[in-house]
Amino acid sequence: MSTDYDYDVAIIGAGPAGSSAAAYLAKAGMSVAVFESEIFPREHVGESLVPATTRVLLETGAMEAVENAGFPKKYGAAWTSAQSRNVIANVFNKFSHELGSAEIQFNERDQPGVDRDYTFHVDRGRFDLILLKHAESVGAKVFQGVRVLNADFDDPQKVTLTVRLGPREVPISARMLIDASGRQTMLGRQLKVKVADPVFDQYAVHAWFEGLDRKALAFNFEKSDYIYIHFLPISDTWVWQIPISDTVTSVGVVTQKQRFAEAGTDREKFFWDFVSSRPDLYEALQKAERVRPFKAEGDYSYAMQQICGDRFVMIGDAARFVDPIFSSGVSVALNSARLASRDIIAANEAGDFSRERFAAYERVIRNGVRNWYEFISVYYRLNILFTTFVQDPRYRLDVVRLLQGELYDDEEPEVLRIMRETVAAVEEDETHLWHEHLGTLRAPTAAPAF
Ligand SMILES: Cc1cc2nc3c(=O)[nH]c(=O)nc-3n(C[C@H](O)[C@H](O)[C@H](O)COP(=O)(O)OP(=O)(O)OC[C@H]3O[C@@H](n4cnc5c(N)ncnc54)[C@H](O)[C@@H]3O)c2cc1C
Repeated sequence: MSTDYDYDVAIIGAGPAGSSAAAYLAKAGMSVAVFESEIFPREHVGESLVPATTRVLLETGAMEAVENAGFPKKYGAAWTSAQSRNVIANVFNKFSHELGSAEIQFNERDQPGVDRDYTFHVDRGRFDLILLKHAESVGAKVFQGVRVLNADFDDPQKVTLTVRLGPREVPISARMLIDASGRQTMLGRQLKVKVADPVFDQYAVHAWFEGLDRKALAFNFEKSDYIYIHFLPISDTWVWQIPISDTVTSVGVVTQKQRFAEAGTDREKFFWDFVSSRPDLYEALQKAERVRPFKAEGDYSYAMQQICGDRFVMIGDAARFVDPIFSSGVSVALNSARLASRDIIAANEAGDFSRERFAAYERVIRNGVRNWYEFISVYYRLNILFTTFVQDPRYRLDVVRLLQGELYDDEEPEVLRIMRETVAAVEEDETHLWHEHLGTLRAPTAAPAF
């Protein structure tokens, strides 16, 4: 076998996907290098985790450092609507199930391999740095401030990257490449396999606020550190409320991108105009102090025609992203790192890095992401169906399971099929009581097909 290469595996990007893959592979004894264009810590959107991340953090060994960081613990999730808030104000701090409102706790359902009933809300600057330092501590080489410019697959024995090191461009070779470059999708763009989602084109404007009274917005004071999703009375539009510390809260408005273009205004005015459609939220936020500038995120819904090939795999956002509604992104990043690493370790043992070696990864991750896609599209088509299913004892635990992030195994979870069929029936029947609540984003099943 040729030893004319610098590393067994080169990884583009040190987000949660890249650092977790680096930790798995370094722990398995492979030589790994991570190239990150930024200098950490750097800010990043995507601050609320789901419990399916726990298994990966335990396996890589990063959990201890994550626990020690003191991030707010996330025991559950809650959804509110304008109607539910009015009722709740009247019953004073008692949980009430109204149209469009719901809440779940992760401890309602055991998860194999998950040893605690909470996950975390994280400051991604600190969280991503912890994962990267952990990867380094178990043997990965880390290069920060180093951008990967190109990947050359011409030599059948290795892949050669061109990386920018200060003013110079330097070749680095490896037997295997992992693209974990996030939404920059370095390899997907180079190989021209990236496809914009045909339905979702959402847009988010977000910032951090000091002193937001989360208890004033909570169903129950003890649950004020859940993630809250506040529905706005504008179709396909919602607000996230994520605790970052005891006093700092991340808040973001998500809506259709075209609305931002049509508004012809700046991010700040756009944010406040939308939030003002929920007076309770507006009032609470006005009393808080914004401590980070408004940032915008768009063009984040896409798929890849191909996520692995001879000597490469794409993981995390570099492989696909759909929508942030169920806080699935970091979990997909970590679980795709786990699944891809398993195949790469086996490929290394076999001395064969051809595409067939990554078929298991491709199958399971496509399954999982297709299930996420279906769940997200059902939600946007009829969000009161989602909250109704959460409240229905027949389906509650199955929905909790999805919200825990457990959807990689099944071809299609039964509850998803029932939700999809119910939405289709409401769409077809104009006299249905729920017809007026339909959203405007009508996703065909699991589109795009790959
Ligand atoms: C509006 C919005 C809200 C979200 N909210 C949540 C949430 O609450 N919970 C959740 O789990 N997820 C959320 N997400 C998704 C989450 O942000 C991502 O899924 C997650 O960060 C993906 O991790 P990653 O490691 O794949 O990519 P990233 O975290 O983006 O990391 C990629 C890294 O690669 C580096 N890089 C890129 N190109 C190169 C290059 N050429 N050379 C070297 N380095 C490179 C980048 O600098 C970056 O550090 C949200 C997303 C959006 C858009």
